[in-house]
Amino acid sequence: MTAPSTERPRRQEQEPASTEITEMAPGILRSQLPISLPGLGHVNCYFLEDERGVAVVDPGLPGPSSWRALVHRLKQAGYKPNNVHTVVVTHSHPDHFGGAGRLRDVYGAEVISHRSFRTWFDPAEDETLDDEPAGATTETPRSVKPWGREMPWRDDATFQPPMKRRLKFGLYRVALKRFMRTPAPTRRVDDAEIITLARREWVSLHTPGHTNDHLCLFDPAAGIVLAGDHVLPTITPHISGLVAGADPLTEFFGSLEKVAGLDGVTLALPAHGHPFHDLAGRAHEIRAHHEERLDTLRAAAQELGDATVEAYSQKLFRPRSWGQMAESETYAHLEHLRETGEVVSHREAGALRYHLVE
Ligand SMILES: [Zn+2]
Ligand SMILES: [Zn+2]
Repeated sequence: MTAPSTERPRRQEQEPASTEITEMAPGILRSQLPISLPGLGHVNCYFLEDERGVAVVDPGLPGPSSWRALVHRLKQAGYKPNNVHTVVVTHSHPDHFGGAGRLRDVYGAEVISHRSFRTWFDPAEDETLDDEPAGATTETPRSVKPWGREMPWRDDATFQPPMKRRLKFGLYRVALKRFMRTPAPTRRVDDAEIITLARREWVSLHTPGHTNDHLCLFDPAAGIVLAGDHVLPTITPHISGLVAGADPLTEFFGSLEKVAGLDGVTLALPAHGHPFHDLAGRAHEIRAHHEERLDTLRAAAQELGDATVEAYSQKLFRPRSWGQMAESETYAHLEHLRETGEVVSHREAGALRYHLVE
């Protein structure tokens, strides 16, 4: 007899990496590289083919095993690393930029990111950012290392990732030192620039929210969107409260509207999970999910009166998810309600507390 399973069904994004190369559209191939992060089993690394060779989008994690997988997948598609002329990195999370530095340094590939791209482990990268647009702040980059930072909602602890994740990040750092180079982009694009890859003219779309530097690419002629982690098919991307600037949730909502409003989208290619067709529908579903979370917090505020982020997070998340990641996302949602004037916050005994505006 087997006990009834209490596990939730496996999400698309958790599936182990397929070893197949699959054509998504003419000149666009999907490969999958293995990753093991909470909730994620693979990252989609797209190959964009043209007369010059191939561009890769999101070349996996730093480290030798991911690199070996990438080289193997390229070979399956008929390429060697020196055929890679361009790397597109959708955002500054390690499962997306892993192979970029090596492809740039050893094989001469161009590395394209959004202008605001920053990683937490490479202080030199900030210094090379001298082409910052006027008025941009460089004091508190959004994608700066979250671990060990003070959490704005409590004075008694610094932010630490869950143990599994911390071990992984420790390993990344070792791998980075020994095998990898930092991704230091060679071409930083703004919103609405044209990038020609796979014989297509892609329009860059700055889509902040999941990270401040998130970039999607849109081919308006064919209606194809490379969606990165901005819109995923069966999970919602983490929105962290540990970013500079107020209200990442409002930015995320704006970015969801931006892709939902694109004309003629027929195919969305996410960084995790399977391709899907109704990008606007999925963007609206994700928005609705966050609206529900906000409603849960409004109800919690009625019930709790004046309470800490930790107390609110326990209304929003199930016990197995309680902890700093849950608090970070709760904080982002509470700050959204504060920005929209529904709650106010004050600091008491070293912790931020929120209550409804009377
Ligand atoms: Zn991400
Ligand atoms: Zn990702």
